[in-house]
Amino acid sequence: MPPKALLSTIHKEVSWQQALSDVITDYSELLEMLQLDHQQAPHALMAENEFPLRVPRPFAERMEPGNWQDPLLQQVLPLGKELDYQPGFQQDPLQEKASNPLPGLIHKYQSRVLMVVSGGCAIHCRYCFRRHFPYADNNPGRQQWQAALDYIRGNIEINEVIYSGGDPLVASDKLLADLTREIATIEHVKTLRIHSRLPVVIPQRINDQCLNWLTATRLRPVLVIHSNHANEIDEAVGFRLKMLANQGVTVLNQTVLLAGINDEPEILAKLSERLLDFQTLPYYLHLLDRVQGAAHFDVSEQKAVAITRQLLTLLPGYLVPRLVKEVPEAKSKLPIAVF
Ligand code: SF4
Repeated sequence: MPPKALLSTIHKEVSWQQALSDVITDYSELLEMLQLDHQQAPHALMAENEFPLRVPRPFAERMEPGNWQDPLLQQVLPLGKELDYQPGFQQDPLQEKASNPLPGLIHKYQSRVLMVVSGGCAIHCRYCFRRHFPYADNNPGRQQWQAALDYIRGNIEINEVIYSGGDPLVASDKLLADLTREIATIEHVKTLRIHSRLPVVIPQRINDQCLNWLTATRLRPVLVIHSNHANEIDEAVGFRLKMLANQGVTVLNQTVLLAGINDEPEILAKLSERLLDFQTLPYYLHLLDRVQGAAHFDVSEQKAVAITRQLLTLLPGYLVPRLVKEVPEAKSKLPIAVF
């Protein structure tokens, strides 16, 4: 049973749909809310034109007022340096278009297939590897599901379907419940995995309707959240993570290693401990995908290995995420040897 103070906060929460339609998209509003001086703002506006600012209020409320270096703010703040050309950073760093057999379907790894369920996101993370992804061509909608379902039905080696996006939990529960029901009719599919940042940025997204379709299916439900810093996991987020775990959903977290945000072992250790408080285990620690506009977040592989080694001394093995990188032609994510 959550403490009374938390319960009253949860009861006062707006619905997830309201929170989603009321995200902060205005740079000045965000600065005012955080009591930050416009005069000291980095040159942001052009970067914002390319990939607009988008921050849910529950996430912005966890930022520290007056602190330009706040690790949550840094993840969403458009900076002029995003527009500087950096060799080796590309529009489609994972070359997903090459593994895109049908609109809305990415089949890169043999046993699992990824469905782009929604092109939208609640938040715009400046380091996102899909910031230039052609969602307009890859948001098939119900009428085109049949082709994707037929593809999965015809490939018996596919045992896992992953809902992705954008953020798949931006889609309605009705749509997700219907799609899940269809997938459950395909005998060789055993697992449904959802990759979403919504449980962190708008935690009220995890409500009874969501839990209903997620736990009523014969498919094994796995939810991979995406959190990069312990400050993202407040009590409201933790309460939802526990709800999921208590209903039998396997909840894991993936993190992107980001310069200036979480590239210290103590920061990552705190995140793992915080996740464990709420029955969530760390899964992957990703090297940044080298997407244009995100070079300032890059951490070298050598430094990532050193951080992970130190992390192993601070935490039990089960709380140390696996350090990985994605390479376009590889048949899986590539683990990086730490020793
Ligand atoms: S796809 Fe994920 S990382 Fe990219 S902007 Fe959306 S929530 Fe952020």
